[in-house]
Amino acid sequence: MFREQVELKTPAQIEIMRQAGLVVAETLQAVKSQAGAGMTTGDLDRIARESIAAHGATSNFWNYGADDEGHGGFPGVICTSVNDEIVHGIPGPRVLRDGDLVSVDCGAIIDGWHGDAAVSFTIGEPRAIDVELIRVTEAALWAGIGAARIGGKVGDISAAIEASIVAAGASYGIAEGLTGHGIGTTMHQPPWIPNVASRGRTTRLVPGLVLAVEPMVSIGTSRNRTLDDGWTIVTLDGSRAAHAEHTFTLTERGAWVLTAADGGREQLGSMGLPCGAPAT
Ligand code: MG
Ligand code: MG
Repeated sequence: MFREQVELKTPAQIEIMRQAGLVVAETLQAVKSQAGAGMTTGDLDRIARESIAAHGATSNFWNYGADDEGHGGFPGVICTSVNDEIVHGIPGPRVLRDGDLVSVDCGAIIDGWHGDAAVSFTIGEPRAIDVELIRVTEAALWAGIGAARIGGKVGDISAAIEASIVAAGASYGIAEGLTGHGIGTTMHQPPWIPNVASRGRTTRLVPGLVLAVEPMVSIGTSRNRTLDDGWTIVTLDGSRAAHAEHTFTLTERGAWVLTAADGGREQLGSMGLPCGAPAT
């Protein structure tokens, strides 16, 4: 019953998704490297918009969720989520300050095929607790990707993400109700990839699947709420949150991270895992 909903891609289609993934990787790198105190989140959106356009791609975030008349969609090409904002923050006039923790989520489309990734970083002089939160969140992302195998299950990814965060400390919250997802001709499609282990049966991992894995972790409660702007999701207790995401596919050799410039080779290698990226 899960399989019919899942969109499997051909190797040629995955090659196009790799191009979209590289646009996302380069755009996030541009935003992260240029972000600084005194800039607004709207400035970050402008950097991303120029990068996406310069690569000949279009944005899948812009106007996301609009109604049939094209109204009410997301007003940015990135989500900028600062401090207690977990995800879906709207870029705008907010000025970034020294010590802020920023999560930037970005996507791009090439020839109808989507990429999606997110990175968290600090502005100026960071708090040690935020640096550790980002490390824990990124480690959970890679634990999830590293647990994925052809013939395994989506649930293996979820279990590895949860175990990685739980092992880092009981004080961390895993944002409730927010999951990773399949991706392809749409940004969000089945299978859904929870960041906590699920009891039920989950989708089998097969060649042609492309998945976006995205742990969202706070230094406090896992509970959250949406602000009156209809988009921004914040922690219920005001604790800071981080977000890390990559789009990847599975080959018989291993995971190929489409939104990592090196295909994930370095990170997977540091975990003793092979990388499924084509030989360069
Ligand atoms: Mg996503
Ligand atoms: Mg994303």
